[in-house]
Amino acid sequence: MHVPVVVLGGGPGGYAAAFLAADLGMQVALVERDERLGGTCLLRGCIPSKALLHVGRVLSEAREMKEWGIQFERPTLNLDALRARKDKVIAALTGGLGQLAQRRNVTVVHGTARFTNSTTLEVTPAAAGGASQRITFEHCILASGSRPARIPAFDIGSPRVMDSTGALELADVPDSLLVVGGGYIGLEMGTVYAELGSKVSVVELTDTLLPGADRDLVKPLQKRLAGLLAAIMLRTKVVTIEDTGTSVRVSFEGPEGPSVQEFSRVLIAVGRRPNSDGIGLENTKVIIDAKGFIGVDGQQRTADPHILAIGDVCGEPMLAHRASHQGKVAVEALHGEPALFAPRAIPAVVFTDPEIAWAGLTENDVAASGRVVEISKYPWAASGRAHALGRTDGLTKILIDPETDIVLGVGIVGPGAGELIAEGVLAIEMGCSARDLMEAIHPHPTLGETVGFSAENYFGVATEIYRPRSETTPR
Ligand code: FAD
Ligand code: NAD
Repeated sequence: MHVPVVVLGGGPGGYAAAFLAADLGMQVALVERDERLGGTCLLRGCIPSKALLHVGRVLSEAREMKEWGIQFERPTLNLDALRARKDKVIAALTGGLGQLAQRRNVTVVHGTARFTNSTTLEVTPAAAGGASQRITFEHCILASGSRPARIPAFDIGSPRVMDSTGALELADVPDSLLVVGGGYIGLEMGTVYAELGSKVSVVELTDTLLPGADRDLVKPLQKRLAGLLAAIMLRTKVVTIEDTGTSVRVSFEGPEGPSVQEFSRVLIAVGRRPNSDGIGLENTKVIIDAKGFIGVDGQQRTADPHILAIGDVCGEPMLAHRASHQGKVAVEALHGEPALFAPRAIPAVVFTDPEIAWAGLTENDVAASGRVVEISKYPWAASGRAHALGRTDGLTKILIDPETDIVLGVGIVGPGAGELIAEGVLAIEMGCSARDLMEAIHPHPTLGETVGFSAENYFGVATEIYRPRSETTPR
């Protein structure tokens, strides 16, 4: 088969690219080794984890209704039904992608692809005995994604030691679970298992959960997790992991010295690695860095003029919306448009309870760069809606350029932060000033108001916060 454009990988980067290419009139083939389209995000990432987090959230809200005089009976868990409901969500979405591909005349080829040179892929079907296929192309958009990082010492071949894919399968609700890694996956999946009834402990190598997020955003989450989880062990190293036949024995080295504990299961969530190996890139001119990421320019073009790369395989942050956006940039570039991947803000959301979300400049960035910014914070204790929800633990903050009042960054912690951050993304991308945010009428009573109120607080005029004016208060 010869096609002008082939996309390798059917995740949120790959299918977004293939669909746009078809929409723009290109003849396109999409190669995916899985039987279903959707990639990590849909089949074993974003969507199943959020479906399970939804369940966890309902359980915690039902529990907290006690404070409001409503008491539910202790919930019973039908694990088969829960798994089936989660799988139904995935099936609906992946089925939809298959239909969309068909309607757009995207040729979907199922099999594992490998470059034999800069313009040829060899695709081996998953089914034994099937003949491999050669696809030649003018351009390939490589969207092969990433996989869980493995630590050889913990790779003991035990069914009790899982990665995120295993954890999402939800084989059981173990009595106790050790989560290695206090990042996105560790805290999201740790929350799910804790809400379902496991005694969850998290061990994190650094001195904080979510090292990439600002400290003031992590604080309310850590406080709540301290009540939900059995233990949070920071600055602690897992030294050995051993399957005893009935449990997993883990030895630690932490601030209080060495210790040993047993757990029913262990989840390893220590990051992800790009799928840039084993696909024949040595037969092309593509350049790969020391971490395995593919080097690309602002139009997602690699060092090989026939190959572009998008999504997790070409760097951090490994997020679905970044992958899709890059997919569109790559296709627009091939279509001859002046496309450029140069976002001012790629939002990040950790879907824990409370959620943490940020976009644009963070306080961590400021500390690293020494840039002068004003930071205006609005504690949710001042928000009527937060009180009505019984969730005053949130915080909304805006990072502002004091010279121009332009909004450079937004950070939010609290329930629904992932939805609220969209306003921050738009403000940063549009070059809004704090005054724009302050003067835009936000609906009352909503948590979204806290974005406008943070801007009011910058000018020292937030209705619900008294801040004495000084010489330096902006006008
Ligand atoms: P992928 O989604 O990894 O897709 C790559 C595809 O390429 C796969 O389908 C793979 O089978 C295929 N492929 C690879 N090699 C070959 C080959 N040789 N031949 C044929 N096919 C091949 N991100 C968010 O933004 N929000 C979230 O809430 C979120 N939650 C997550 C939760 C978990 C548990 C995990 C693991 C990840 C989560 N992510 C989330 C990250 C997100 O899943 C990734 O950033 C996103 O899927 C990257 O998209 P991609 O298209 O680059 O790659
Ligand atoms: P992560 O990078 O978010 O977190 C890994 C954590 O493990 C870090 O805090 C790190 O310090 C710690 N760590 C590393 N080695 C360790 C060790 N030996 N012992 C203890 N701790 C160790 O990685 P992740 O949680 O595996 O997630 C991978 C990626 O998937 C994320 O970075 C993100 O890009 C994506 N993801 C996104 C979402 C979302 O958008 N909501 C959800 C899940 C995953």
